[in-house]
Amino acid sequence: MGILVISDIHANLSALEEVIADAGEIDAAWCLGDLVGYGPHPNECIALIQGLPGLKCLLGNHDAAVLERIDPLAFNHEARQAILWTQEVLTPDSLAFLVELPEKIVAGEVTLVHGSPRQPVWEYLLDVYAATRNFAHFDTPYCFIGHTHLPIIFQLGNGRAVASLNIPDYDQALSLVPRMMINPGSVGQPRDRNPQAAYALFDPESSRLEFRRVAYDIASVQQSMQAAGLPERHIQRLTMGY
Ligand code: ZN
Repeated sequence: MGILVISDIHANLSALEEVIADAGEIDAAWCLGDLVGYGPHPNECIALIQGLPGLKCLLGNHDAAVLERIDPLAFNHEARQAILWTQEVLTPDSLAFLVELPEKIVAGEVTLVHGSPRQPVWEYLLDVYAATRNFAHFDTPYCFIGHTHLPIIFQLGNGRAVASLNIPDYDQALSLVPRMMINPGSVGQPRDRNPQAAYALFDPESSRLEFRRVAYDIASVQQSMQAAGLPERHIQRLTMGY
């Protein structure tokens, strides 16, 4: 048992279902935002996430755009098309859930954000320099981030002025040490050239974390996206994982 850490589900129900099944019994779930956008099943994904035990869930930039807290014009053409489609199909229950989501959660040893501690909804942490500056913006030993769709660990410490970057191995637990930022990767729209859904399992008692990947029925999601008239580029990206 442990904590299921998921991010960037992007309305991909099949990927989310496989992740939840693969994780097995969990004590709690942390969802780092972007429940919607890109994929064909936003309401179903929100309902499933709402039912997870001990849920802590954040607002992502696509969620914020659907709520019109971010101008959809800030997104590229295809992402904007998906946001407008999502606005049309979201139920009042789904909207009511998204409206209440916070941008940052600090609980015990962890800070949770979608983008970065410095700009919780929007900043992409892709390099060690941006990551280094962000360590000044949270006080807890660990910070979980999403948004880039890349499983990654940034670590500050051991006398180094600049954070180091590690790409995780899969299905192998590692011990977290204080001052780390951890991205579990994306459930529903992976972008590290591995099309399998990405997530992490965290055991706060032992500070052990496992990055995992799981296969799902990509073709069926692509068919649903096609039927919904969602952008072709997002459909093709699922096959490539990029
Ligand atoms: Zn995302």
